[in-house]
Amino acid sequence: MMLDKQLYQVIMLTIDAPTPIAIALVGFKVEDTLLSNLKATTQLETTLQVYTGQAEVFRISTLPEALVDRALAQLNQHPSWLSITVTKDTPYVSLQFNLADNLGSQTVITLSEDAEALFADFNSLQFNITAIGLLAVLLATIYAALFSNKISRPLTALATIAKRIAVGDYSQNVAVQSNTKEVNLLSEAFASMQSNIQLREEEIIFQARHDILTSLYNRNHVETLLEQKFLNNDSFLVIGINIFGFRGINDIFGYQNGDFCLKELADRLTKFDGVAARLTGGELLWLPTYEPTAEFTQSLKVTLEAPIDCGDVVINIKVAMGLISCPEDANNAEQVFKRLNIVLDEAQITRKFILPFNAELEERYSRRLSVITELKNTLRHATDELNLHYQPKLDLKIGKVTHVEALIRWTNARLGFVSPEDFIAVAEQAGFIENITSWVIKRAIEDAARFRDANLNVSVAINLSAKDIMNPTLLPIILEVLDTKNLPTDSLSFEITEGDLVKDHDKAIVHLQAFRDKGFELAIDDFGTGYSSMAYLQNLPVNTLKVDKSFVLQLHQRDGDQKIVKTVISLAHSFGMNVVAEGVENIEALKLLADWGCELAQGYYICKPTPADNLIAWCNDNKSTKWL
Ligand code: C2E
Ligand code: MG
Ligand code: MG
Repeated sequence: MMLDKQLYQVIMLTIDAPTPIAIALVGFKVEDTLLSNLKATTQLETTLQVYTGQAEVFRISTLPEALVDRALAQLNQHPSWLSITVTKDTPYVSLQFNLADNLGSQTVITLSEDAEALFADFNSLQFNITAIGLLAVLLATIYAALFSNKISRPLTALATIAKRIAVGDYSQNVAVQSNTKEVNLLSEAFASMQSNIQLREEEIIFQARHDILTSLYNRNHVETLLEQKFLNNDSFLVIGINIFGFRGINDIFGYQNGDFCLKELADRLTKFDGVAARLTGGELLWLPTYEPTAEFTQSLKVTLEAPIDCGDVVINIKVAMGLISCPEDANNAEQVFKRLNIVLDEAQITRKFILPFNAELEERYSRRLSVITELKNTLRHATDELNLHYQPKLDLKIGKVTHVEALIRWTNARLGFVSPEDFIAVAEQAGFIENITSWVIKRAIEDAARFRDANLNVSVAINLSAKDIMNPTLLPIILEVLDTKNLPTDSLSFEITEGDLVKDHDKAIVHLQAFRDKGFELAIDDFGTGYSSMAYLQNLPVNTLKVDKSFVLQLHQRDGDQKIVKTVISLAHSFGMNVVAEGVENIEALKLLADWGCELAQGYYICKPTPADNLIAWCNDNKSTKWL
């Protein structure tokens, strides 16, 4: 209650004795002491104001006069940390209560707290935290610098090592020393990676340079070695070694034994000083470190050919050796390989087992290649380059020509005349002899029909190769073509070279028998040059032996030839066979043969091979010739 511009706290009490007897009114002047007590109790600055209407009529405060307005202005505010600690525009947080409205005046009490003081501890805490934080960052930075030095140096070293490993340099030790366990682990991992890569690379290099089966060098690597030798202008000998019929060894004894033979041969070869390699299949190459003598090469061959004991079977191998002297015979690796092929082929064909290369071999080889190419072309597109000549066989008993031999002739646009000796064997090896045979059969049967039409009663003898005999479709084809010309089977006969029959004797017998069963005459050609045995002869379903011309050409001069031919004739007769002698070049031979009971004679003395038309004319001209 305002009284005389002073504020009083008034308490009105009823005095009961025991019924109310009086009302006591007690007033206390509200002044600074009261507020101080209040402040002491609440710990808050306290301001008391009294308003009459809008006008403030009384004010006391525990705050200094200057701050009261400010505290009052911050009523009901929610101060932010920023406004307290940084901008400091809210030092007080105040809350205001209206006391009872008394007799037209309104008393208002405002409790204020100095926010700055309130935050003082917090600020110092905040400062400490910031300081500790900064210190931690600083320490961390220093530690990181030290630590990174400890980590990054060995890591950089490892990175350098990794780069070296990448380019294939494994010489450096990878042990990077560090106090850090992880770096040591990494360095150990690097070391084991390096040695593993090195091992694997060595393995890959080994595989790239070696033949897996024999562990000898392979063709690729030996090519590099040869090129190196040529670059250094070295003089050296290359020895090619070829196992005879290696495919046959695989076929007969199985691949496992074939492989075993190769390994054994490789072992034997590596015992000698030099570089050994396997080129393909059964073909090896050896570069001796010194120039071997002829005796040494021979003894090397003997060593290599020692029987190979494969456990379940003992295999006898034969090798052919081709020698190439470099740089005289070849001046680069490609030439070495090419000429090795040539010389090894030749060594096999001619059965000269140790054969040095010479230029003539290559000429023959190239010629053989062009023969193959041209002959294939002729058979496909230009069969008019082929012709058949006929050579009469004279029956010595009746003095008449009863048989003629068909002999192929080939005059090629590029190669000129090529002798059958030069292309028949090549065609056999190259695997297209049956194309020649079918052409010959067709033409020979056509000509046989012409001979019949010209009243020439002769049997046409066709030469067959071993491959033809083994061909099961040949006989039906011959029968069919004969049939189209209405010719009997005795208008054809066949000659087979003796050597060809030995290779697969049993099968050959079956096929020959089929020819005999159809009524064809069969002769063994070039008899005496092969390996005939009595037992073998006895079993062969042939009716004629044709004595090779090498025994006949000089028959009148050579005692030995006479003995052989006489023996062959009596042998043939004892087996019930006829004999034809080819290569009769003079009357003396003809007489001898007739005396010994030889059935037929063929040779230049009687007539050279001649075209079909000439043969008809010749036969007509010689109808009454007395040959003996
Ligand atoms: P061959 O079957 O032994 O034929 C006989 C060869 O001796 C023929 O050589 C013939 O011209 C030759 N000759 C005949 N009489 C005499 C003579 O008195 N003196 C001399 N020095 N030689 C004589 P050609 O025609 O060069 O044939 C050579 C070989 O070619 C033949 O030997 C035969 O094995 C083969 N041949 C020829 N034509 C064919 C054919 O059509 N098919 C097959 N598979 N081989 C054939
Ligand atoms: Mg013949
Ligand atoms: Mg012959």
